[in-house]
Amino acid sequence: MNDQQRNPNPNGPNKNGGNTPPKPKIFPLIVTGLIIFLMMNLIAGWISNSSLEKKTYSEFLDYLQAGQIAEVEFTGDRIIFLTKEEAAKDERLQINYYTGLITNTDNTNLVRQLRQKGISINQKPQDNAATVYIIYQILSTVLLVGVMWFLMRKIGAMSGGMGGMGQSKAKVYMEKETGITFADVAGQDEAKESLEEIIDFLHNPQKYTSIGAKLPKGALLVGSPGTGKTLLAKAVAGEANVPFFFISGSDFEEMFVGVGASRVRDLFQQAAKVAPCIIFIDEIDAVGHTRDTKFGSGANDQTLNQLLAEIDGFDSSKGVVCLAATNRPEVLDKALLRAGRFDRQIIVDRPNLQGRLDILKVHTRKIRLTEDVDLRQLAQATAGAVGADLANLVNEAALRAVRKGRQAVNQEDLLASFEVVIAGTEKKNTVLTDIEKRMVAYHEVGHALVAALEKHVTPVTKITIVPHTSGALGYTMYTPEEERFLSTKDELMVELRTLVGGRAAEEVVFGTRSTGAANDIARATDLARKMITIYGMSDRFGLMALSTVQSKYLENQAYMDCSQATAAEVDREIQELLARVYGEAKDILLRNRSLLDEIAQYLLIKETITGAELMAYIEADQKAAQKTEETPSAPAGEGDAQ
Ligand code: ADP
Ligand code: ZN
Repeated sequence: MNDQQRNPNPNGPNKNGGNTPPKPKIFPLIVTGLIIFLMMNLIAGWISNSSLEKKTYSEFLDYLQAGQIAEVEFTGDRIIFLTKEEAAKDERLQINYYTGLITNTDNTNLVRQLRQKGISINQKPQDNAATVYIIYQILSTVLLVGVMWFLMRKIGAMSGGMGGMGQSKAKVYMEKETGITFADVAGQDEAKESLEEIIDFLHNPQKYTSIGAKLPKGALLVGSPGTGKTLLAKAVAGEANVPFFFISGSDFEEMFVGVGASRVRDLFQQAAKVAPCIIFIDEIDAVGHTRDTKFGSGANDQTLNQLLAEIDGFDSSKGVVCLAATNRPEVLDKALLRAGRFDRQIIVDRPNLQGRLDILKVHTRKIRLTEDVDLRQLAQATAGAVGADLANLVNEAALRAVRKGRQAVNQEDLLASFEVVIAGTEKKNTVLTDIEKRMVAYHEVGHALVAALEKHVTPVTKITIVPHTSGALGYTMYTPEEERFLSTKDELMVELRTLVGGRAAEEVVFGTRSTGAANDIARATDLARKMITIYGMSDRFGLMALSTVQSKYLENQAYMDCSQATAAEVDREIQELLARVYGEAKDILLRNRSLLDEIAQYLLIKETITGAELMAYIEADQKAAQKTEETPSAPAGEGDAQ
């Protein structure tokens, strides 16, 4: 539910960031060029023909007889002649006449006559010219037809088998068999478990449909780049032994309006033909981002609408399951996430220590290793690395071994390539130094411990200090509380103390303040402001409404609605309230310092602690406290009970 933003660069380098260079648009250029070329030809032909006028052969003879002809030119099959009358005109106004040349007759007679009359005779190297002209005509026709054909195919492909315009060449990749199973995906047990059901469903849909159960049509894999979302989707297809359709949301980005939509339609059509199968849409945020932002383009909306329609339209009992992956679930359109669509979110976490070890094992399966290789040490060193990093690391190590002329990979290779792959390039914020790790651990435990001690219920289901989705370095998954419609002031105070508990722990343990608490501070301030200005919970202002909440479903922020003097006073009141709860949170932690240390230590070693484990620590501590209380000599526990 909450993750704290310690990371100055929250999204980190996005492996899939849609920054592939746009394809050069050569095609339209060629077409335009050709069209212009042909038009110019046509015009040129028309101009050159425009001053030609046809005459019959007898007319020609008449002209000849009358001595009216000035010039004659023989071309392949015609005689072009200029009359004296025309020759007298301005050159631009001259009209040339032509008539058919009577072939198969002896034209020497004609030539002699012309010579006698002193008419200049021209002979174009006609055959060649004609052949060249014909070849030229044929070539340009072929080219034109070729271009048209190509265009049609292209359009046909883009419009996804629209009408009879040619087979779709949509960028859909289909793998009959992915050849990947869950054995290839290390760690990610929770994700696998959630996907297990889908596999079972693909194996025998009747089992589900006979009861009348509807299976989810889709599941959304959420996690940082490289955590193995694609791999998992492929593994689902491999386990279920069904074909795997792959398309990436970013493929839609550079397309014309309407093309994306028809591609989606086409994808689902193809899938329906070979069902049961898996459709996997990578980077679904590229199409699925919410429609009410300024950034949405009409084209994207169409694609998204089509996607929604297809998901609603397909019959899941046929065995089509749509998986999608994203690392930005928060930007997705709500319509995509509503029940019946991608209502299941499967978190694909960054691997913890055990997960990293397993991934390393999977990827070193086929690599020859020397005896000294200690994968556990490597796994410990790579906190924050994702599967893709580790796969890359192992490969780099193998390359290094080859470079060094060795027959097997040794530990040194692995550690050296770790530096290259993960720490090297830019010390991606995902790998924490030891001190950072300790801070994150104490910070998170601080929140959890305050909450647990104050609420007397298990406050969290899990804390991890594995850098997490969207850049949070630590991550606390709070126990979902029952939906609440009312909160009392006391409860809100506990909430406030919990929120500042993270920072309190930093100060209690390290005597310092980190940037990791920024998000906590913002939330605590917002809550405090609401308590004072909306809920009427301050003694100073009583029941006066001092601010209003605007756009509840968007930002749910309170805007001050009072005089400036009052606003300044409110600010002071907020400050006091926060200072008070912060002091209280610090008190709680100071009184339970040993417990804080114990739990943080555990978290540092294991990287993950569950709510149950946390509560076990607290209970053990309380039992110990009770024992000392029972012995009459030590009534010290009193103060703690509050
Ligand atoms: P994503 O789709 O989440 O960005 P991929 O599934 O494309 O990540 O993972 C990239 C590569 O990283 C995979 O091909 C695989 O080699 C490796 N990898 C990632 N996660 C795991 C894992 N849990 N187990 C084994 N290999 C993994
Ligand atoms: Zn925090």
